[in-house]
Amino acid sequence: MTLLDGLATSRQIKSEIAQSVESIVQSGGRPPHLAAVLVGDDGASLTYVTSKVKSCEEVGFRSTLIRKEASTSEAELLDLIAQLNANEELDGYIVQLPLPKHVDEKKVLLAIDPRKDVDGFHPENVGRMVLGLPCYLPATPGGIMELLRRYHVPTEGRHCVVIGRSHIVGLPMSILMQRNTSPGNCTVTITHSKTKGLDELCRQADIIVAALGRPEFLKGDMVKEGAVVIDVGITRVPDATKKSGFRLLGDVEFSSVSPKCSFITPVPGGVGPMTIVTLLQNTLQARLEK
Ligand code: NAP
Repeated sequence: MTLLDGLATSRQIKSEIAQSVESIVQSGGRPPHLAAVLVGDDGASLTYVTSKVKSCEEVGFRSTLIRKEASTSEAELLDLIAQLNANEELDGYIVQLPLPKHVDEKKVLLAIDPRKDVDGFHPENVGRMVLGLPCYLPATPGGIMELLRRYHVPTEGRHCVVIGRSHIVGLPMSILMQRNTSPGNCTVTITHSKTKGLDELCRQADIIVAALGRPEFLKGDMVKEGAVVIDVGITRVPDATKKSGFRLLGDVEFSSVSPKCSFITPVPGGVGPMTIVTLLQNTLQARLEK
């Protein structure tokens, strides 16, 4: 069994990005600049955004964290988006989800300039991804594809079962895995909470992408020998032995699944760090396209 080490791979990619930033700066250009908008004070969202900002600093990007009160109105937020779109010194930005209930997330998403949509959530980028045109890939699926590429995981002709159909993970993952690319060229089955016979589908899979948000859902008896398993799930479960008071669990029961796998991602240290580097890669791409 080979561990798909997202942490080590992300470090390697960060050093490649840092080199690109250095050559931009050496030739007199300004470094890439990413902004993150955080509305409210949700602990998990703050952790994610802080680690994105920290990663920007590691590779030499400029970063701006814009924090807004949970009571910020939809109109104020749309006004901020318009300012970010117009800011020539900014290459890309993200609006951390979820947004407070009184704000229409779809409206906010549609207001983002697709050329600065480094999260790859705007319908224009999603449409371009579906058609195989140049675009910003959504960070988590993009990071998984990069991990598969760097470890030369065979995918062509394989049966890939994706568990979950969210717009940010499951659905784009299913599209990327069936594209005529490498990695890609899989026969894909996308599944969700209404799917019947999921256990049997998983047992038929050469590759399983578990993205449902249920800790340790995928057990050893649901996986065939030699399978590739990608664990996207991150759930905080209370743990009094930890300083933070919680630990992170994936959607895969690692102890029973990993002995059967040819490749598997750990949690933490698998998909999570790859998600952040994809965001950095997208921001670098935005800077270079200016
Ligand atoms: P989500 O929006 O809640 O979607 C979950 C999907 O799983 C839905 O499509 C749902 O089906 C499906 N599902 C739920 N229970 C199921 C079951 N018993 N059998 C089959 N399908 C089932 O979640 P998400 O945003 O995609 O995130 C999924 C997990 O990945 C979460 O743990 C999240 O924290 C994690 N995540 C990690 C990263 C990272 O960087 N590592 C990034 C994003 C998300 P329905 O559509 O029928 O409801």
